[in-house]
Amino acid sequence: MSNDTLSGNGGAVSATGNTLKQFTSAGRGYWSDVPAADWNDWRWQLKHRITSLEQLQRLMPTLTPEELAGAQLAKTKLALAITPYFFNLIDPADEGCPIRQQVIPRIEETHTAAWEMSDPCGEDSHSPVPGLVHRYPDRVLFLVTDRCAAYCRYCTRSRLVSNAAGYDFHPEFDKQIAYIAAHPEIRDVLLSGGDPLLLSDDKLEHLLSKLRAIPHIEFLRIGTRIPIFLPQRITPELCAMLKKFHPLFLSIHSNHPRELTTEVREALGRLADAGIPLGNQAVLLKHVNDDTAVMKAHLQKLLMCRVRPYYIYQCDLIAGSAHLRASVRKGLEIMENLRGHTTGYAVPTYVIDAPGGGGKVPVSPEYVLCRNAGRVLIRNYEGKIFEYPEANDGTPLFAPPKEIAAAQLT
Ligand code: SF4
Repeated sequence: MSNDTLSGNGGAVSATGNTLKQFTSAGRGYWSDVPAADWNDWRWQLKHRITSLEQLQRLMPTLTPEELAGAQLAKTKLALAITPYFFNLIDPADEGCPIRQQVIPRIEETHTAAWEMSDPCGEDSHSPVPGLVHRYPDRVLFLVTDRCAAYCRYCTRSRLVSNAAGYDFHPEFDKQIAYIAAHPEIRDVLLSGGDPLLLSDDKLEHLLSKLRAIPHIEFLRIGTRIPIFLPQRITPELCAMLKKFHPLFLSIHSNHPRELTTEVREALGRLADAGIPLGNQAVLLKHVNDDTAVMKAHLQKLLMCRVRPYYIYQCDLIAGSAHLRASVRKGLEIMENLRGHTTGYAVPTYVIDAPGGGGKVPVSPEYVLCRNAGRVLIRNYEGKIFEYPEANDGTPLFAPPKEIAAAQLT
């Protein structure tokens, strides 16, 4: 697949990605008769999600046999759900459509490789109380719900989100909050799920107030894909409520430039205007964004939406995700083609969540070629090599062997 003509990741695009960087509306598509007040109401969008094979077949007669079989089995693994708004971004004529790949189930999800896991990040083994993951010393992951506006077929928490696999997730906010209050080393709480922005404004405000009342909590974060799946949820009322809890950061999850519509840009603008720093977490996915031109267009478009690209994740070893997993080699190639080739703010950190619970490990092309006590040999993005003299930090450049030093002291 060349960089000039892409299939399966957004149609023809110039090498500069200009086509992909254009902002367009998702439109009304199949729902052109629906009154605007309903269409723009996030509760209407949730109520009218596509959740069954029958609905999917009716709206998309071009389903492939693999998709048909996948949709039939989705209810036993990870539910099928797509908001009407997001559904309009799918190109029904393109089997390789990057939006379609992310939300339409496929039969390949039922194939589990020997190295794949149901809990690849080892969250359950680092959970002191249900719904709370305490893996790093100073911060916790606070799971608030198992529901999302739509379900990503590669979801790292597919063991619990949507409850199709019978995980029976029941967070107990009082116990989760009591644990945090009893552990003064925790200074940062990340609300996630499922999607926290599916909670009502009142419920979310109540939860944030409880957390803000804990004196050692310095920083709150929300991880959400709602601005992408359901931008209608980002109401002025929600933004006004969230801004009461600063410092509060929000990490969105977007993978492809076509997800960044005019609706999404406006929703993100409302959040940014409320003073909420925005970051993006993308997942590197085969035939979706494993291409430098697509990824670069996406990252640059995020900046245009006032979002700082934060991470690119190597897709976790979640059971049934092999068909969507791009190689680490491809990830490194993309990073090599970003650093120095575009704005530094557009270059996220590429990480692998170490399988089994080792945490995030940054992986990067090698820029330090060699290093000793006196100098560092580096290369730049063009491959040119430079020598940087090491600063003298007080460490003697040449220390005598320990035996000689010890003999001199006696
Ligand atoms: S929005 Fe997040 S939690 Fe929900 S299915 Fe997608 S990746 Fe999983």
